[in-house]
Amino acid sequence: MCAVIFRIAAFIYMFDVASAQEPGSTIDYQPVWSYDDEANWPGRHCREGGRRQSPIDIKTSDVVHDFTKQFIKYGPLQFTGYHKVLVSGINNGHTIQFSSEGEEAIHPVLTGGPLKYLYRLEQLHFHWLSEHSINGVKYPMELHFVHVRADLTVYEALGKRDGLAIVSVFGNVQAELDDYQQEASELMQHIPKLLKTGDRISGVLLDMKKLLSPNRESYYTYSGSLTSPECNEAVIWIIFDSPIFLTDAQYRLFGKVGVGRHNFRSLQKLKHHVVFAPAETKLHMPQIVLFFEDVIRVISDFFTNVGTFMSNGIQTE
Ligand SMILES: [Zn+2]
Repeated sequence: MCAVIFRIAAFIYMFDVASAQEPGSTIDYQPVWSYDDEANWPGRHCREGGRRQSPIDIKTSDVVHDFTKQFIKYGPLQFTGYHKVLVSGINNGHTIQFSSEGEEAIHPVLTGGPLKYLYRLEQLHFHWLSEHSINGVKYPMELHFVHVRADLTVYEALGKRDGLAIVSVFGNVQAELDDYQQEASELMQHIPKLLKTGDRISGVLLDMKKLLSPNRESYYTYSGSLTSPECNEAVIWIIFDSPIFLTDAQYRLFGKVGVGRHNFRSLQKLKHHVVFAPAETKLHMPQIVLFFEDVIRVISDFFTNVGTFMSNGIQTE
């Protein structure tokens, strides 16, 4: 059963472990897709679009503060078991991913906010640059904590509008960090071991609570899709507005990861999306961000020139 779930999950999330297999081993899923060729991604929703594809540009003027509990019906978000998570890490050719290890019963779980059910953490991975943008601007990084509804198999979850919950945390970059900005430092020490496709580590204990944004009461949430094939419209997104921080040097490491020059899906057209925020929340506006228009122009040498780019291409309010 576990193997089946793993294989389905590996296929659906496109966390392609093919290159990490022993030489000569055969597997029946070898997804062929790349971030440079979105028009040919597998999955009808990916190619033709759907009603609620992700990622999107979140326009803060359109965000619904949910005073009437239309979408955020279940009280505060409740993260349980995130302070000590046993994970294995892999460079799968598309991103670096840390997956929960051990019995499902000890995996962290999330509920509350827009989530009626309990969701189990499956894995955490990175996008650079961010996939979502806020008022047309992007962050250097976005972390995705992928959860599956605990009462469903992955296969079942992919067919339900609320089958998955993905918590998204933006990563910002500074030359040096203050003491209170060290949230990602524990995680980042493992990245140099995962720079080549197929690299793996296991038995790592992570305090993921630190990575979940400094303010977990303030977030955007909407019903959307996976941002990789097959783009299933099965995701409740929870996107924290306060970023965590990385140093310039830590961020540059991702430029050495063998996944090509970037790994974000392009922004999708707004159709049936409605973005909510908790009623009482005062949303944090990005203060140091990358203009999306600038991103395309500079992305090819982005990592080699982070410092230059940050000083030329950012806007500080
Ligand atoms: Zn992702």
